[in-house]
Amino acid sequence: MLSVETYATMAEAAGAVGPRARYLAGGTLLMRAVNFGDQGFDRILRARAVERDIRPDSGGIRIGAGATMADVLAARDVDYLHPVARVIGGPAIRNMATVGGNLFAPHPYGDFATALLAIDAKVVMTTGQTEAMESFLAGRDRARGLVAAVIVPRMAPEVFRFAKVSRVKPKGVSMMSIAAWLPGASGRLGDVRIAFGSMGRYPCGPRRPSGRCRAQALMPPGSNPR
Ligand SMILES: Cc1cc2nc3c(=O)[nH]c(=O)nc-3n(C[C@H](O)[C@H](O)[C@H](O)COP(=O)(O)OP(=O)(O)OC[C@H]3O[C@@H](n4cnc5c(N)ncnc54)[C@H](O)[C@@H]3O)c2cc1C
Repeated sequence: MLSVETYATMAEAAGAVGPRARYLAGGTLLMRAVNFGDQGFDRILRARAVERDIRPDSGGIRIGAGATMADVLAARDVDYLHPVARVIGGPAIRNMATVGGNLFAPHPYGDFATALLAIDAKVVMTTGQTEAMESFLAGRDRARGLVAAVIVPRMAPEVFRFAKVSRVKPKGVSMMSIAAWLPGASGRLGDVRIAFGSMGRYPCGPRRPSGRCRAQALMPPGSNPR
């Protein structure tokens, strides 16, 4: 028997998290599990007030865990993440799929989480505790509590690149996704960070290319080096 528990806030819902409980965000994966009769949980937790804003924060831009891919696409502050949100499922999925849910999406999903890993995002729990994306993902299977938001750096669209390889276009699941943060100065590459999705149980990286990559000219998106 499945019970549904509704709490006023995510912090209260976080207090009710337990081994047989799952938090319901957009439900694109969780409700599928319910429909398949997943016996791994028998409690669904909901919160009435969920952080969904995308707004400037002292550390960069704060994206509420409840922000959907459609919300991301409507937010100019994170325009560099639009190429990622745009290739997550079809329009119906993008209207429901949340940033928080994507952090827990198993292979072959998790395209947004791959991008967040490349850009060194911080995960903010409802307790206020923050954790680097890399260590959060490594421990997500034993994750406790609920995610309130992620904090991403501000950046110009040209210093972030994302590519998704899929059999079915335009909205198939990833065979592989690659996200790269290409900071630098005067058009030259600096400390590059690359993350890969769909190559393991959760996004892997960041890889930092060798020194040979550094100081090379940053090519415009879509150009082929000769
Ligand atoms: C047809 C289809 C196509 C899809 N295409 C893609 C795709 O191209 N790329 C991609 O990356 N994904 C894809 N997905 C997977 C999924 O839609 C996304 O990963 C989405 O972001 C998951 O978010 P959600 O809000 O729907 O999560 P839910 O289904 O609500 O939850 C998923 C899991 O995350 C946990 N969770 C959710 N929010 C929080 C939180 N704030 N704190 C702690 N735990 C939380 C839930 O408890 C649950 O275990 C697809 C799914 C479907 C059904």
